[in-house]
Amino acid sequence: MRIAIINSSPYMKKLLCPQCKIHRFRVKNEKGDSVVVIVNENYEVVPIHPEESLEGFDLEVLYCLGCSWKGSPRSLVH
Ligand SMILES: [Zn+2]
Repeated sequence: MRIAIINSSPYMKKLLCPQCKIHRFRVKNEKGDSVVVIVNENYEVVPIHPEESLEGFDLEVLYCLGCSWKGSPRSLVH
């Protein structure tokens, strides 16, 4: 898994849910905890609260906050 320190500029493009076109998702870990994230145009998963760590979270499965969609970052739309 790629770990990146990301400078999360508010102006970066965010990818959207293919169903409801919102840009906020959850990722989950094995314990069932979740963190709210966005995905930028480089398909990098970024927590909306910069102090939150994504360590241990499965970044390959996103759960849309707006509908029942779930899937990989590569499935998102511009
Ligand atoms: Zn959705």
